[in-house]
Amino acid sequence: MAQIIALANQKGGVGKTTTSINLGAALAQAGQRVLLVDIDAQGNATSGSGVDKSALTVDSYDVIVEQTPLHDVIIPTDNYDLVPATIQLSGAEIELSNQEKREYRLKTALEKVRDDYDFILIDNPPALGLLTVNAFTAADAILIPVQTEFYALEGLGQLLNTIELVRQQFNPELDVAGILLTMYDGRTNLAKQVAQEVRNYFDDKVYETIIPRTVRLSEAPSYGQAIIDFDPRSVGAQVYNDLAQEVLKQYGK
Ligand code: ADP
Ligand code: MG
Repeated sequence: MAQIIALANQKGGVGKTTTSINLGAALAQAGQRVLLVDIDAQGNATSGSGVDKSALTVDSYDVIVEQTPLHDVIIPTDNYDLVPATIQLSGAEIELSNQEKREYRLKTALEKVRDDYDFILIDNPPALGLLTVNAFTAADAILIPVQTEFYALEGLGQLLNTIELVRQQFNPELDVAGILLTMYDGRTNLAKQVAQEVRNYFDDKVYETIIPRTVRLSEAPSYGQAIIDFDPRSVGAQVYNDLAQEVLKQYGK
C-alpha cells in the first residue's frame, strides 16, 4: 500500500515542485511505483513532468471538485504516473467551500488507487487553504522543503499549527516525514548558520541530504525532464538519488 507524502510549505519558491518531480523520478528509477499528484493551479509539476497543459481535458480539479475517478485523469510520464493540474484548479477552493466532506475529496480519490503504488507524492500550492487541507487529510506524512536562507524558519510555526489542526479534526495519524534543506549555498556562512539553526530546532526530523543551489536543477523543468534524465551525472541528480535512498530507508522499502 502506498505511502502518501504531501510536499508542503506555504512559502513559494522553496523547492516543493522541484523536490516532487525529482524525488518522484528518483524513487521510480529505484524501482518504486510512483504517482505524483499536482494540486497547484500553477501546474509547474505538470509541465516539469513533460506534459503539455494546454492539451489536457481533465485534471486534479475534476478529481477534487467533480469527483471524476482518478483512472480517467492519470497520465503516464517517463518515470511516474501523474495527476496533472491546470489553472482550472484556481476556482476549486471557492466551489468546495460549501460542499459536504470537502476536506476528504482527495483522500477518497486516492484510496481507490493506493494499492497500485508504493509512493504517492502530492505537490501543494503555496498556501494553507482547503486544497492543502485536502492533501494533509489524505497524507500519511508531510515533507517540508525549507529554503536555506535568512527567513528559513519564518512561517513554519503557522505550518505546524495547520498540521496540528488537521490532526485533531481530520487525520489523527498525520506525521511530519521530515524537513528538507534546499537551495543551500555552501560558500556562505549564512547558509551554514541557517542549516544549523534548522537542525537545532527540528533535530533528527531534518533529512541528512541537503539540496544545493545548482543551475542544472533550475534548467531541467523547461525541458520537461527530471534531473536524473536531464543530467544524470550532475550534483542535483546525485542529491535527489540520495534523498530517495533516505526516504526508502525511512519507510522500510
Ligand atoms: P515551489 O514549488 O516551492 O514554489 P520550486 O520547486 O518551483 O518551488 O522552485 C522555485 C524556483 O527555484 C524554480 O524556478 C526552480 O527551478 C528553482 N529551484 C528549485 N530548487 C533549486 C535548486 N536546488 N537550485 C537552483 N534552483 C532551484
Ligand atoms: Mg510549486
